[in-house]
Amino acid sequence: MTGTTHIIGAGLAGLSAAVRLASQGRAVMVHEATAFAGGRCRSYHDAAVNMTIDNGNHLLLSGNHAALGYLRSIGAQGRLVGPRSAEFSFADLASGAHWTLRFNDGAIPFWVFDPKRRVPGTGALDYLPLAKLLWAPAGKSVSEVIACKGTLYERLVAPLLVAALNIDAPDGAAELAGAIIRETLAVGGRACRPLIAREGLGTTLIEPALAFLQARGVPVRMEHQLRALRLARDRVEALDFGADAVTLGADDDVILAVPPYIASSLLRDLKVPTEFRAIVNAHFRVEPPAAQPPILGVLHGTVQWLFAFPGRLAVTISAGDRLIDAPREELAKQIWSEVASLTGLPAVLPPWQIVRERRATFAATPAQNAKRPGAATKCRNLLLAGDWTDTGLPATIEGAIRSGNRAADIVARQSRQA
Ligand SMILES: Cc1cc2nc3c(=O)[nH]c(=O)nc-3n(C[C@H](O)[C@H](O)[C@H](O)COP(=O)(O)OP(=O)(O)OC[C@H]3O[C@@H](n4cnc5c(N)ncnc54)[C@H](O)[C@@H]3O)c2cc1C
Repeated sequence: MTGTTHIIGAGLAGLSAAVRLASQGRAVMVHEATAFAGGRCRSYHDAAVNMTIDNGNHLLLSGNHAALGYLRSIGAQGRLVGPRSAEFSFADLASGAHWTLRFNDGAIPFWVFDPKRRVPGTGALDYLPLAKLLWAPAGKSVSEVIACKGTLYERLVAPLLVAALNIDAPDGAAELAGAIIRETLAVGGRACRPLIAREGLGTTLIEPALAFLQARGVPVRMEHQLRALRLARDRVEALDFGADAVTLGADDDVILAVPPYIASSLLRDLKVPTEFRAIVNAHFRVEPPAAQPPILGVLHGTVQWLFAFPGRLAVTISAGDRLIDAPREELAKQIWSEVASLTGLPAVLPPWQIVRERRATFAATPAQNAKRPGAATKCRNLLLAGDWTDTGLPATIEGAIRSGNRAADIVARQSRQA
């Protein structure tokens, strides 16, 4: 007999667990504290720009197999868009240089030997030290494994790692940097195609999942915040939601898919990452120039990545903690001046919005990475999921979905063994 799995948190970790279990015909119930699903990956209507925008630009890569599998499960695989081959345009605000990186599809990196495809100003041998990151030992930072200087570092390694790890590249856990390189550059261009939710994160990753769950009769209770877990010896016996409580049957399980600081407040002796890094996004309501690439990497500016959407240009600044308390209007003007110079658009500031996510991801340092727990807990019917659990990846959509899948698979396995 199988019981009900209660999933706490309707971010991507919780939703992916729910989708996986529901697609096996299992009984699932999702409980979300806020009035919306998606957590840190969501769309909303913004009054300042009078359009639906995402809390932050989210980039996926064609090698994100768990994310693509999730999209297939919910029937939304066609909603991510990207070029046919792995291409990344860059602009350097200091020198005015522009270039496009063009990876070849296969695992043998021919692009490194081709001056028209590789990073300008680099030679093939410059790429060899990157292999050191592939086998980086646990506990080392990026700067302890490779030299954080030189043209290749400035033009490729730093932008890639800041975006993927959301931390200043030298401070990042070399192990996580290695995982990114292993799953992208080392596989070849077929794993590196950039993919964007052009119509928004909500319509791509969240709403189809909610529709999928609804069609299978899975209740998703919004504004239903878990206040406490009632534990008895080695199991959770009840979920306390404040106004109501759910007593768990012998076959019921719980997947806790909440941020780390909530998980540790619900489970006192749980070790979790405790430091975070911010991501700042700026949105401008303006039609991008026709020739604007969908994603542009930017060097030597406040802007790190410029995304072009229909009717909107949006900027991402990772590891953006220094900007968290900057006056909003000044920041918008500073960012727009860079965007105007990159695009040739007029200097006059269009309607704008700045979204600052203070705790966008856990700080991907070696010390914080070592604090990530696995899915299992001391309670046999309680599992953890979330981008901050020990997925082997930095805090990303791919990591969140893999963690949800992993927790769901453990639930399914345990119920088969019972
Ligand atoms: C601005 C920004 C840009 C990003 N860019 C990228 C990118 O380009 N590529 C990429 O791959 N990743 C990116 N990420 C990371 C990605 O968004 C996250 O890794 C992912 O969304 C985390 O999902 P999650 O389910 O683990 O956590 P969350 O999204 O935090 O979900 C947790 C959920 O639990 C709910 N909850 C909390 N407490 C309770 C409670 N007591 N009871 C019930 N529910 C509760 C929350 O409301 C939330 O809905 C970005 C993140 C941000 C913030």
